[in-house]
Amino acid sequence: MDSVAWLRKLIGFDTTSRTSNMALINDIANYLENQGLSPWLVHNNKRDKANLFVTIPASGGQTNGGVILSGHTDVVPVDGQEWVSDPFVADLRNNCLYGRGSSDMKGFIACILAAVPSMQSAKLTKPLHIALSYDEEIGCLGAPVMLTELAKRNLQPQYCIVGEPTSMQMVIAHKGINTFCCEVHGKNAHSSLTPQGVNAIEYAAKLIVFINQLAQQLQSRADLDHAFDVPFATVSTGMIRGGTAINIVPEYCAFEFDYRNLPHMTVAELIQPIEDYIEREILPAMQAIAPEANVKLTHNVQVPALNDVDNQQLHELIVHLVDDEHRAKVAYATEGGQFQNSGINTVVCGPGSISVAHKANEYIELEQLGRCDRFLHELIKSQSV
Ligand SMILES: [Zn+2]
Repeated sequence: MDSVAWLRKLIGFDTTSRTSNMALINDIANYLENQGLSPWLVHNNKRDKANLFVTIPASGGQTNGGVILSGHTDVVPVDGQEWVSDPFVADLRNNCLYGRGSSDMKGFIACILAAVPSMQSAKLTKPLHIALSYDEEIGCLGAPVMLTELAKRNLQPQYCIVGEPTSMQMVIAHKGINTFCCEVHGKNAHSSLTPQGVNAIEYAAKLIVFINQLAQQLQSRADLDHAFDVPFATVSTGMIRGGTAINIVPEYCAFEFDYRNLPHMTVAELIQPIEDYIEREILPAMQAIAPEANVKLTHNVQVPALNDVDNQQLHELIVHLVDDEHRAKVAYATEGGQFQNSGINTVVCGPGSISVAHKANEYIELEQLGRCDRFLHELIKSQSV
């Protein structure tokens, strides 16, 4: 099967993150076993999803070192989107294949699977590995589980290429994602008796303003990186809920914010001042009225940034494969930072465009699949005698 046929098949599995990916994983595992390979799965706790990892050993059976080709199997929901064709039936129009996940990122997985026979017939000097994850779209939850298992099995790949849609350009760095939920517990009262209550919404508002001031400060730091389209770290409050009625001083308010840090910036740089502010300004005022009042900050999504340091050899390999010197840095996050934190030098490079990802009528140009096929062909050549 070529990459287009594989992509048609993969789009046919509805692997929206909230559903199981096992049908797709089992299908791929079967294919790999029929090729004489030994894929292994790592399940989530509920065992309704799995990561798949397989090594195509180098001649002589060597399995250490080499390059991982990495993709996530889950896709974002199509709820509320106006699709011209069924999102889970691949539709070819104007040299583009339409379907959920066509660009993000079943296109890359399709190209990898189509290339497996070539990987096996090549005389590899270093192994190639395929890593397919679950739950990338809801906070990169699957990849760390797979990386832990990789370490247990003492497998030490040298490089990783994450095939998120970059239009086959090399992305050498990306920002991290950290999301937080801040819950403010005040004290309710009749709205005519405000001095007896602790208004959770109003304290939440103070905190949101404070966080926004920190966001402004991030924009004028001296250590911006202008290789990113947004050269500073961003902070945005995106959700808020609280209150029960106009005439009740609300006792509860929760809001969520996300922090997209530049690779060299830490979580603590943002959170420490917020915690200090809560301790110094917010809690004393709230607890003066209601000693039980409190504020709880929870760190939810933690997707590490991808750093471009100490990665020159891999960059040079990719420049050779894509025949393009360009080294991009992007705002969106991938599993790349997780691979890098496991000691595997990583870049992002894959077919399709990020601009159509997550949208209605997502598509991939056949030309992009062709470029990725050639990229993998060149990679196999570069890793064999
Ligand atoms: Zn993706």
